[in-house]
Amino acid sequence: MGSVIDTIECENCSNDAYEEVYYKSGEFYVFCDSCGYSHRAFFERDEDGELVLKNEEEGKVFENLTMKEEKIENPWGAYNIKNNNGIGQTGTIYDEAESIRFSSHIDELVSTDEHEILYVILKRYLHSEKKHIEIPVYKRNENVIIE
Ligand SMILES: [Zn+2]
Repeated sequence: MGSVIDTIECENCSNDAYEEVYYKSGEFYVFCDSCGYSHRAFFERDEDGELVLKNEEEGKVFENLTMKEEKIENPWGAYNIKNNNGIGQTGTIYDEAESIRFSSHIDELVSTDEHEILYVILKRYLHSEKKHIEIPVYKRNENVIIE
């Protein structure tokens, strides 16, 4: 399905946020990797991955699908993982407890020799001080340049 990818101003921290809009269905996904803000609307699916219909008889037409909306307005922060192969992963950290679980999970992962992780950073926006901060969690070696 066709989608348009754009950069918009993050509602939470004003940095650039990633936006993807599926223009036919109205589904969208907004994520800011500077603060973890996320807002998305998507068609609900059941445990088997099947679209949830409002009315069983009317079939899979857009008007009969169940749109779900999720917004994380005030996240604790965002995690940014970069791997050896250049592939990265980002996502929202909801609260401080999750940040602690996340960091110890990374500690476990990098304690083995097989991991592919180059670096891991937590990024936050502190509203009270109106500033962005970065918390390094792991860096493979001192020569790695963090983008
Ligand atoms: Zn943001």
